[in-house]
Amino acid sequence: MASKGSFRVLVYDLEAGRGDYETFGNRAEILGGSGLAAALFEAHRIPDAPALDPRQPLIFAIGPLTGCFPLMSKAICAFASPYHGQYAETHGGGRLALAMRFAHIDALVVRGRAAKPSCLVAGIRRLQLHDCHPLWGMDVFATGKQLRRMFRFGEGHRSILRIGPAGENGVAYASVNVDTYRHFGRLGAGAIMGSRNLKAIVIDGGSSLPTPPGRDYRKLYKKCYDEVTGPDLMRKYHDLGTAENLAKLNAISALPWDNMKRTRDDAIDGVSGERFAKDQLLRQTACAGCPVGCIHVGLMRERFGEQHEYLYRQVSYDYEPIFAAGTMLGLTDAAKVLTLIDEIERQGLDVMSAGVALGWATEALERGDVGEAETIAALRFGDLEGYMQAVGHLAARANPFYRSLGQGTLVAAKEYGGEDYACVLGQEMAGYATGEAFFVSQALGLRHSHLDSAGYTLDQQGDRVSVEDAVDFLIEDERKRVLLTSMAACLFARSAYPEDRLAEALAVMGYDDIAGNLGPASRKVQALRWRVRFASGFEPDAVTIPKRFREVRNARGPIDTAYLGDLRQAYQQAITGLAA
Ligand code: SF4
Repeated sequence: MASKGSFRVLVYDLEAGRGDYETFGNRAEILGGSGLAAALFEAHRIPDAPALDPRQPLIFAIGPLTGCFPLMSKAICAFASPYHGQYAETHGGGRLALAMRFAHIDALVVRGRAAKPSCLVAGIRRLQLHDCHPLWGMDVFATGKQLRRMFRFGEGHRSILRIGPAGENGVAYASVNVDTYRHFGRLGAGAIMGSRNLKAIVIDGGSSLPTPPGRDYRKLYKKCYDEVTGPDLMRKYHDLGTAENLAKLNAISALPWDNMKRTRDDAIDGVSGERFAKDQLLRQTACAGCPVGCIHVGLMRERFGEQHEYLYRQVSYDYEPIFAAGTMLGLTDAAKVLTLIDEIERQGLDVMSAGVALGWATEALERGDVGEAETIAALRFGDLEGYMQAVGHLAARANPFYRSLGQGTLVAAKEYGGEDYACVLGQEMAGYATGEAFFVSQALGLRHSHLDSAGYTLDQQGDRVSVEDAVDFLIEDERKRVLLTSMAACLFARSAYPEDRLAEALAVMGYDDIAGNLGPASRKVQALRWRVRFASGFEPDAVTIPKRFREVRNARGPIDTAYLGDLRQAYQQAITGLAA
């Protein structure tokens, strides 16, 4: 075990087929989670080598509180992204974080390329690379089924990560499926695994750890547990879940429909969170270590054969997948949206990126910028059948058009025309047509994610604030989130874990030096992440905010393009300053 002051990292070389446990870094400086992932990337990356160079690291990291308090349930995956060639982070739940904690590793660094399609199995009692070539070509769900048969140890404590055809074929937004209902979705971690012949990773979390001594820990745990399971703080995530935002954003004309040609539609009732809850919801489930359970699992019924025979499948849904595989594609029926989400997941694509890419392809076909010779499928807003076919073509990179689209919507738009209506903000947009603060914060955010900072919240708070105030808000909000993601906490628990509560939790765990230093340490980690991002080639000037975003008109009125430009410049300066 590493000491309280450093991290225990498993560095595995796929080419050599061996791994070593190493001691790394200083907890008081880089905290863990996001900070640990960025520091490991800085230490292991090969400058100037492309993202798909097998020497580049693929990193998974957890935090100092993982498994010790409710909702400390996430793992951070870091890598050089095949989407833009630069540092990328994606955060995932499931059982991975706790499995790593009980495998006694703070981080896993994978390097090299396996000679054959392989599955890496790591745990306290095992470290092996298994030949799994029969699984190559299998979809995500079939792969999961086979892996559960192959590796019967540690059920309930084991985490299974796997990729589908999209990852094998190098789609730049291929995801890694984590324990079926969670993902490392954005920016192509799946393609990194595919390029390394790494079909799957199984972490065996079958050991145990002692409960921290003393009454203080138990008292604080109970307090946190009572709060997150009480009626005030997090109930909404369990009840309707994030899907409740569909109707809310539609009501303020901030929900993208049909490739964001409009931002409100009366057909919202067919795909609202309420509709999903009424017609599709089967159960809620949770990441390991989370008593909230925000993962909504819908029941999908699929007819097969000539007779009345049906297959039933369980498909998880949230706000973002419903936006991307639903409203963005003009689908207004919850069952159809669930069917499309299921297919995208099966192929191992990120649902948000794939849905937005197909929205652009549909409009490109409508406008004649591409023809059916390119799209193969007849894509029409609202028509499920065309999208079901297109998802397979996208994952297979079936022709030059899908090869290009699989590299990113803007890549295809540059080649075929249609950059103006590409809904891309650094990567395919998240579902918030709320205004300038969100557009800038996603376009220039470290992860190009709606979770980098609360730009969408700022947009919804009445009148526009000054550019200076907006930048201060975004930078400070990012710092607070970096602190949470360095603990590898679920970001839905923002209100449950303010800074003083995190300090208390760290102190009862024996991390007094970190507890007393959270402000400066989180600022350092924030700067570290930006430094790593810039060093890996990020050029904020090169990021575009396409015309379609400037055409948005929502409840606040039209986009203020002058304000958008000023905010972009000021935010750009601020993050450049952070990295210096
Ligand atoms: S709130 Fe949801 S995403 Fe967050 S840890 Fe719990 S189940 Fe996972």
